[in-house]
Parts: sequence; structure tokens; C-alpha cells
Amino acid sequence: MLRLGVTLLAIGVLAFVLPLMNVQFRLITLLGDRPEIRIGFAAVGALLIVIAKVKAGASASKQVAAPPPGFHPYQQNPMPPPPPMWTGAPPQQPVAWTPPPPPSAPMGRTCRNCGNVMPPVNTFCTACGTSLS
Ligand SMILES: [Zn+2]
Repeated sequence: MLRLGVTLLAIGVLAFVLPLMNVQFRLITLLGDRPEIRIGFAAVGALLIVIAKVKAGASASKQVAAPPPGFHPYQQNPMPPPPPMWTGAPPQQPVAWTPPPPPSAPMGRTCRNCGNVMPPVNTFCTACGTSLS
């Protein structure tokens, strides 16, 4: 049913496209190459697809409404569903560009004794008191 609908819809759609390439279905030509015929094929195909979808949905809802006796979905599948497999590279997070930290040497003075880095205005180490001059 669905396959037939898809086929008819494809014929109807192709009947519109093929004349652009100087090709036409022999079936369409036999029926008479009129726009009504093409639209009819597409419409019938779409209608059949809709009917097939409705029927599939109705049967699916029936199965949901009336599960077979002895059907215990939670007992059948006690484990939670596994997490989705990690496929491909992780999503690229937009990272704001940050300038690299400037070298510490021009920023201040480093204590010879303990390595403490202080502003250049300091003359004595604030950590150990060693003279920086
Ligand atoms: Zn120091």
C-alpha cells in the first residue's frame, strides 16, 4: 500500500520533471500527456501514502492500548537503556580567545631568596623581606 503510493507519487512528480529533459513516461503518454493526469498520479499516490500511514498508526495505537497478556516491559528490560554511543569528535565548544599570559619578568621583580614575584615598585620582598635592589 505504502510502496504503491510512493510509486504513484514518484510517477506523478517525475511526470512533471521528465518533460524538461524531453523524456516522458510511456504510461503518461498513453493516457494523454495532460496536467490533470500528472496531478492525478501525484494525488492518488499521496492519498495512498496517507491511508497507509493512518492504518499503520491505528495498528500501532491498538498494540499500545492492548498489550498481550504476560507482557512485562519493565521485567523484560530491567536495565536502563545504555547511554548513546559517543560518535565522532566531541562538539566543538566556542572558546573565546584569551591572550597568553605575559611573561612575568617585565611585570615585576622576582625575589632571589624565595622566588616571590612582586610589582617593580617593591624594593623588598613582601614574603621574606630580602632586598630586591
Ligand atoms: Zn623573598
